[in-house]
Amino acid sequence: MAAACLARNLGTRNHTIEVIESPDIGTVGVGEATIPMINLFNKILGVSPTDMVRETEATFKLGIEFVDWGGLGRSYIHPFGTYGADMGGISFIHYFLRQSLLNGTWTPEIYNLETAAARAGKFGVLPNNDPSRPSLNHAYHFDAALYADFLRRYSLKRGVVRHEAAVTQVHQDAETGFVTALDLKDGGQVEGDFFIDCSGFRGLLIEQTLKAGYEDWSHWLPCNRAWAVPCERVETPLPYTRSTALEAGWQWRIPLQHRTGNGYVFCDGFIDEDQAADKLMGWLDGKPLADPRKLSFVTGHRRKMWSKNVVALGLASGFLEPLESTSIHLVQSALAKLMAFFPRDGFDPDVEDHFNTVMCGEYANVRDFLIAHYKVTDREDTPFWAYCKHMSVPDSLTQRLAIFERGGMYVEPPYELFREASWFAVLTGQGIRPRSWHPVADMMTDAELTHHTAQIRDLVASTAARLPPHETFIRHCQQRQAS
Ligand SMILES: Cc1cc2nc3c(=O)[nH]c(=O)nc-3n(C[C@H](O)[C@H](O)[C@H](O)COP(=O)(O)OP(=O)(O)OC[C@H]3O[C@@H](n4cnc5c(N)ncnc54)[C@H](O)[C@@H]3O)c2cc1C
Repeated sequence: MAAACLARNLGTRNHTIEVIESPDIGTVGVGEATIPMINLFNKILGVSPTDMVRETEATFKLGIEFVDWGGLGRSYIHPFGTYGADMGGISFIHYFLRQSLLNGTWTPEIYNLETAAARAGKFGVLPNNDPSRPSLNHAYHFDAALYADFLRRYSLKRGVVRHEAAVTQVHQDAETGFVTALDLKDGGQVEGDFFIDCSGFRGLLIEQTLKAGYEDWSHWLPCNRAWAVPCERVETPLPYTRSTALEAGWQWRIPLQHRTGNGYVFCDGFIDEDQAADKLMGWLDGKPLADPRKLSFVTGHRRKMWSKNVVALGLASGFLEPLESTSIHLVQSALAKLMAFFPRDGFDPDVEDHFNTVMCGEYANVRDFLIAHYKVTDREDTPFWAYCKHMSVPDSLTQRLAIFERGGMYVEPPYELFREASWFAVLTGQGIRPRSWHPVADMMTDAELTHHTAQIRDLVASTAARLPPHETFIRHCQQRQAS
C-alpha cells in the first residue's frame, strides 16, 4: 500500500522508491475485512470496485453482524451508513429515540439502508444509477494476499524497485541516529533518506533500532491470540462480516468469493490455546482449506510512529485487534498524513510531533470504540465476559458512555474515525437504551413524527427491495471487466 501510494503521488522521477520484503519471513497473512475508507484509497490509486472483484476475490461488506455480544441470543448489525436523514441540525437518531422511548418499541435497523440490504443479502446499483458505482456505503472482504499482489504489480509498473531479501543489519548515523542504510542477506545494501517500517509486529526499524516504546492496552483489550483458518464456501456470500462472541473472545466469519475466512480471537488467560483451535475447527461450516494458523499480539501502539527519518505503518506501528477491521484503514490513514507532510528537504521535528499526536489520537479513539463492545454487555456467563463487564475503562470512554446513556448525545473527540451512527449502532446493540433525546426532536408534533419515521422506514424497505442480490452484482462486476 505504501509503495503504491508513494509511486502514485510522488512518482519516481525525483524519488527512488525501493521495497524490501523477505519470502523467508513472510507476511502475517490475515486481514480480510475493511471499512469504507478503503474506497478513498482505491480511488486515489484508480482502483475500481470491478478491479477489486476481479483481482482480489472480493465480496462487498455493508457492516458487521455482532452475535451474542450484548447478551446470549441477541444480534445486531453495525452498518456502514446512517439512520434516516438529519433534520433541524440533529441526526435522525434523536427522532428515533423520541418515538421509540415513548412507544416502548426498538427497531433501529429498519431505518438504515445498509442493514436492510445486508439482512436481505442484497448489494448493488439502483436502476438509473451509474452502473459502476454501488449505491450503498460499503467496504470489501478480500483476499489480502491477492490485494498485495495487485498493488505490487501496480507499483512495479510505476517504477518501484523491489528487493527480495531479509534485512540483516541496520546502519545509523553516529551523530543523529538517523537510519542510513540496510544490509541485505543476499549481500546487497539499500541506502535511503527516508525509511518506512512495514516490517510487521517486530518493528525492525521503529522499535528494534529506534526504541520507540510501546503503549500496552491489553488490560482494556485483553485478547492476545488468534487462530485463523480458511474453509470452503458453502453458501452464497453474505454482504457482511459476522462476529460471534464466544467464551473467551470472539470468532470472525468473512465471506469471500472463493472461500470463507474464519478466526477465533481470544485471550490465552481465559482459554487454552489448543482448546481454542478445536473450538474454531468445530465451528467451520465448510471443509477446512488449511491447518489453523496461530497469531500472537499485544494490543496497543508504538509511542512514536514517526521517529527521525522512519515512519512505521501497519503492524509495525501497533495493533488494536481485528474486531472492527481497522488495521488496513490505519495504514491508509497514516499514509494520507505522511503524504500531507512529506518532507522535501530535511526533517521537521514539529511535523514528526504532529504526525505522532494525530496517529496516537486516532488509535485511542478506535481503542475506546473497541473496548465499548466488551464493556457494554449483559454477559457474565464466563470468566472472560465477567472480566470485561467489570473492568475499568479509559476516562474518555466512561464520559462518552455516561453522556450517551443520559441523553443519546454523541461525543466527537478530535481524530475520530467512527462517527455517531457507528457509536449508536454498537452502544444500543450492546444493550444501552438512552434515557432521553435532543430537545430539537421535540419540535415535531406526534403526528408529524409518526409520518416522518414511517416515510423513512418505507423508503429504506422499498430501496432495499429494488437492489439486486449480492452475488448477482459480483457476477455483474466480473462480466463488466471481461467484456
Ligand atoms: C488475527 C488478525 C486478524 C486481522 N484481521 C484484519 C482485518 O480483518 N482487517 C484489517 O484491516 N486488518 C486486519 N489485521 C491486520 C492486518 O493483517 C495487517 O494490518 C496487514 O496484514 C498489514 O500487515 P503488515 O504489512 O503491517 O505486516 P506483515 O504482514 O507482518 O508484513 C511484514 C513484512 O515485512 C517483511 N519483513 C519483516 N522483517 C523483515 C526483514 N528483517 N527483512 C526483510 N523483510 C522483512 C516481511 O517479509 C513482510 O513482507 C489482522 C491482524 C491479525 C493479527
